[in-house]
Amino acid sequence: MYISIDKAAEVLKGGGIVAIPTETVYGLAANALDEIAVSKVFAAKERPFFDPLIVHISELDELENLAVEIPKNARGLAEKFWPGPLTLVLPKRKNVPDLTTGGLQTVAVRMPKKQIARDIIKLAGFPLAAPSANMFQHLSPTSAEHVLEQLGGRIDGIVDGGVCEVGIESTVIGFEGETPVIYRPGAVTGEMIKDMGYREWGMGGGNPSPGLLDKHYSPGTPLFLGLPSEVPQNSGLLAFGELPANSAAFAKVLNLSERGDATEAAANLYRLLHELDSFGLNRIFAVILPKEGLGNAINDRLSRAGTAKI
Ligand code: AMP
Ligand code: MG
Repeated sequence: MYISIDKAAEVLKGGGIVAIPTETVYGLAANALDEIAVSKVFAAKERPFFDPLIVHISELDELENLAVEIPKNARGLAEKFWPGPLTLVLPKRKNVPDLTTGGLQTVAVRMPKKQIARDIIKLAGFPLAAPSANMFQHLSPTSAEHVLEQLGGRIDGIVDGGVCEVGIESTVIGFEGETPVIYRPGAVTGEMIKDMGYREWGMGGGNPSPGLLDKHYSPGTPLFLGLPSEVPQNSGLLAFGELPANSAAFAKVLNLSERGDATEAAANLYRLLHELDSFGLNRIFAVILPKEGLGNAINDRLSRAGTAKI
């Protein structure tokens, strides 16, 4: 199942689907311009067709082949944050299949920072549509083992590139005229682009980014956001920083970052959720992070992963 980058490029050229590492999470890649290859990604993930894919490029020049009417601020963001965990939603060119964009007239584009991902794109010779390499609505994979567990028998290969340094999905930004609109929070934060006068799109209510469902990124074990006053039997705790006074009442405690660092927490998020999910717990409780920087992106993922709020 594990294959080299040369083999991966060969499989992709033949219209196959391969899981590849990026700095955000592992992606399930296919030729973004080949409708049949892309359809295999939807089938393997059991992802609904309305949920558009992000197209990955290895050079800034490739953007022109995918998108038109690129706002000045989009170029500015690309120059500043690419390669990196930022996805730009722009009007699409005709050569981008409707299936890739979930029927939208826009295309989401990103240039990943992880060298091995860009090498695979270069070797393949075309942009890669690559949603997270997990079954629809399940936990995103941040290691090759996570991919193997969920998709092993359903795909043509996995390139093992170690762990994902950022650990949560890219920031997704669209535009209203020149104004950036953050559809999905991520490692590129509003604070970093405040000179452009950005807007944030809150959860729910006419979302322009169809895949941002309220249920997403979920472990099998019911997950609750916030701490219970009385800890039910056989509960797990996903902590951040200093442990709460009642932490001894939990059957398992994993800490996103003992020193309370949100960047470290993001890198650990999915790995620790996978781990907590493997213990046969009745419930997982996750603390809410301070609402600043990457804390917002982590809270966003946890609230979608959650069964209920307390
Ligand atoms: P991922 O599941 O990490 O691959 O991210 C894909 C997500 O990016 C989708 O679920 C959408 O929320 C967002 N996205 C992709 N393409 C578009 C688009 N054309 N317009 C708006 N949002 C998009
Ligand atoms: Mg996903």
